[in-house]
Amino acid sequence: MAARADLIIENGTVVTSGSTFPADLAIKDGKFVAIAAPGQLGLDADDRYDATGKHVLPGVIDGHVHFREPGLEYKEDFGSGSTAAVMGGVTVVLDMPNTKPPTDNPEHVDLKRKLAEEKSRCDFGILGLVVQENVDQLEPMAKSGVTGYKCFLGETVGNIPAPDDGMLLDALRAIKRTGLRVGFHAENDQVMQHEIAKLKAEGRTDPLAHVDSRPVLAEVESIQRMGLFAHHTGTKVHIFHLSSKDGLDMIDEWRAKGVDFTTETGAHYAFLTSEDMKTLGARLRMNPPVRAPGHGDALVTGLVERRVNQIATDHSPHTKEEKLHDNIWKAISGFAGVETSVRLFLTKAVHAGRMTLNQFVAVTSEGPAKTWDLWPRKGAIAVGSDGDLTIVDMNKAGVVREAEMHGKNNMNPFEGHETKGAPVATIVRGNFAMRDGELVGDPIGRIATPVAPDTTPEE
Ligand SMILES: [Zn+2]
Repeated sequence: MAARADLIIENGTVVTSGSTFPADLAIKDGKFVAIAAPGQLGLDADDRYDATGKHVLPGVIDGHVHFREPGLEYKEDFGSGSTAAVMGGVTVVLDMPNTKPPTDNPEHVDLKRKLAEEKSRCDFGILGLVVQENVDQLEPMAKSGVTGYKCFLGETVGNIPAPDDGMLLDALRAIKRTGLRVGFHAENDQVMQHEIAKLKAEGRTDPLAHVDSRPVLAEVESIQRMGLFAHHTGTKVHIFHLSSKDGLDMIDEWRAKGVDFTTETGAHYAFLTSEDMKTLGARLRMNPPVRAPGHGDALVTGLVERRVNQIATDHSPHTKEEKLHDNIWKAISGFAGVETSVRLFLTKAVHAGRMTLNQFVAVTSEGPAKTWDLWPRKGAIAVGSDGDLTIVDMNKAGVVREAEMHGKNNMNPFEGHETKGAPVATIVRGNFAMRDGELVGDPIGRIATPVAPDTTPEE
């Protein structure tokens, strides 16, 4: 054990997925070096933080953000996006590959990594894109440090077409050889394009036309097919932004047949419905859309039961000009969620009595870390793991205000919602990124690469 630590967090209540207990934590050289009962560490430290009355959680991981760099910096960049992340209690993000250029070969992975390491305040993983033309680049991208892969099965922002089924099969075989996981934007494109054309021909331009054009069936069909591909290739698969109960049931069917299948959902699917589209309109336009009442409750239950492995925001900022249109077809999909997700789940799930704080940790830290092969370096409070922490004050009340948020474009469908419980400190490998609500420190974010199988934390 080190004689002197860099940072000690003392007098807080530590929360893991399995237990809640009073403890002091010591971090040195970016990793936890000691965990002891309050006052029992027997260590000096350069810095101490008194967490009396606070809950000390493993660092929150947001497994789905679009920080838009390179190429779309007018919407967001790694500086602004990661500032919003750490202000919202997030210590690690996974960045999606639909940038310009897309993250589709090792050179583009290196490009994004360099840009992010200059500016990011949180650690980050990079996902590699899967398209028709780049199957020979998938294994080289693993060597350059991607956390996993993403494939768009249906039309969405960026218009990246899916590979044909033959190429998709080859892609899954190649990814299987890397040992990494591939996730899917799961919407059947032919169904959607047919429905969109039909509704436009009928003259529909109202917000619910967007919901009607992307039926639950489109999501379930994609999940069913990807389960089949995974079953026959042995590849680990993931469904991004799960929106429906039916989709979750289909994932469970494939799990029962042995497929290593993970998924995620976000606050908008959990707490908002197609009824909210009537009032929020374009602000709530997402792909896939929010669903009829009932699906959100099933997804919250899924999170509690860990059938939904993680909360992920799909943080996808756009300008007001791109987003706000009365004609729903002209409005782009996506909103800025990385800064508000922790507050919203603490309020609407934990304080609402639908989820314990331990269950919250299971799907914000441990779940994403295990999904993307970052466990136990990330997502754990354990000696040898990275010293990432999200310290929350369960009594801190507030209101979601776009004007107070830190991204470049902060439109958020939860504007005006009251919250109780909020992050008050964000610590990335022993460095404060946010302290008592204030942005502090330098951009020290580093790439988070997958932990090789059988690797245990060092020291
Ligand atoms: Zn997304």
